[in-house]
This record gives sequence, structure tokens and C-alpha cells, in this order.
Amino acid sequence: MHGPDAAGPSPFEASAALRHLRMTVMDWMRDAIPDFASLHPRHALQAYQTDRKVWPMRPAIFFDCDGVLNEEPGGHGVLGPDDVRLIPGAGEAVRAARDAGYLAIIVTNRAQVAKGFVTLAGLEAIFARIRELLAQDDATIDAIYFCPHHPEQTPGGAARFQIACECRKPGTLLFRRATADFGIDLGRSALIGDSLRDIGAGCAMGLRAYGVHTGYGCRDVERYPDQAPPVPDRMFSDVREAVAFCVTHRAIAEPGQDVWAERKTDSG
Ligand SMILES: [Mg+2]
Ligand SMILES: [Zn+2]
Repeated sequence: MHGPDAAGPSPFEASAALRHLRMTVMDWMRDAIPDFASLHPRHALQAYQTDRKVWPMRPAIFFDCDGVLNEEPGGHGVLGPDDVRLIPGAGEAVRAARDAGYLAIIVTNRAQVAKGFVTLAGLEAIFARIRELLAQDDATIDAIYFCPHHPEQTPGGAARFQIACECRKPGTLLFRRATADFGIDLGRSALIGDSLRDIGAGCAMGLRAYGVHTGYGCRDVERYPDQAPPVPDRMFSDVREAVAFCVTHRAIAEPGQDVWAERKTDSG
């Protein structure tokens, strides 16, 4: 049917073309970044992106869920869709964040799964309810990352989730996953949480870690798995106020520029 000549570029030609393209890109980056040679390739790429504003990385607001967007019921937490009650202004806050160019990403510990109180299907129903209520305020969540684990073995629990993991906050695995999935510019991003576990994860990621007085109000020192609980960069009365602060600063934020120099003030 087709002779060798009709089969398009040979594998050799294709790889040569790719190699040429790669070298062209490297040349661009070498021009753009003074200390290119001393940088790890990934950091060089980030520096290039930041400098040239190509393939822009996006800022995100990482929201904790219970106690921030919806009421923290206490006890074993939210166990079904009927337990979901939005905190006033939560929908408005998420909408405002996205209107300002932030990704809105939920990162949430769901130890109820490991403890056997909620199934994964039940969890989906809870998340669907949260999305549904937020949608009533025209608010959309870009993604929900959850940790179903808990390190303790409890009778009646789901054994496969009863493990020590890296995703349960203050672990950072879910944040790292989201950052890779979405190409998030952590330097322009923030976390909003009501628990010191949220704040600890945010600090470990180098995010602005903002606390709210709703839910646990960042007073859950005795629940923190460490001798030295983290300190929120700022405290706000609720998620609406926290997002308003982020949006105000987003307006003047340029990639590579630290407009958050006020951090570590005014907390408490
Ligand atoms: Mg919470
Ligand atoms: Zn986990």
C-alpha cells in the first residue's frame, strides 16, 4: 500500500525535530533567566513562567470545608448531606474568589470514612450537597481533595483507611497534588481554615495561612498532633472577610512580586 516514503517522518526524523524544539525552548529560557545554568530544570521553568508570564500559573485559595464553608457540627462531624449548612456568606466568598482569578479548591480531612461513620459514596453525597448549596449563590468549586484516613484503629472502622498517611492535614500531600494538577502559583495563593491542622498544612506549603473565628476558630490546640502548634498569619471573622482580604491584595499582585509582606502581623 504505502511505501516507506509515504509514511511520514521516520522515527529518527521525529526525534530530531523534538530535540530541535527542546533546544529552541532551552535557548529561550537561557536568554530569559540570568542564572539559568544554576537552576534545577523545574525551578528554571517556574522562573521563566514567572518572568515572561507565559503558561501562567494560577493563584488558588485553598478552603477547608467544615467550619469554613459550612457549619462544623462538632461531635463526629458532618455524617450526611442533611448535616450540611452553609455558613452565611460562604457562597459569596467562593464566587468572589473565582471572580478575582483564584482557583477555589477544597482540601478536607474526612476521618469519618476511616472510622466507619461515612462511606465513600456517602462522602460524594455530602460533597454534592455542598456544591449544590454553593451553586445557589452562583459559586463553583474547582476541585475537592479529601483524606479518608485516620491513623487509629477503631472498632467498626474501615481497615484499609486506618493508616498513617501524608494527606491528612497538617500533612501536605493533597496540596501538592492540587498544585501539580492545576499549575498553582503557591506564592500568590492562600489557605483559609478554622483548625490549626489547616494552618499547619498551609504554613508547611509556604501559603498565607488565614484563620477564621467560625468552626473551631483555630483554638483547637489540644487536637494538634505536635508540641508547637502553628500561628495563623491573620485571623478573620469568617470566610467572606478572609476572601475579601485576599481579593484586595490579588488586585495588585503581579507574578514574582511579594505583596504579602504584611504577613505574620495582627494575628490572634
Ligand atoms: Mg474545619
Ligand atoms: Zn490521608
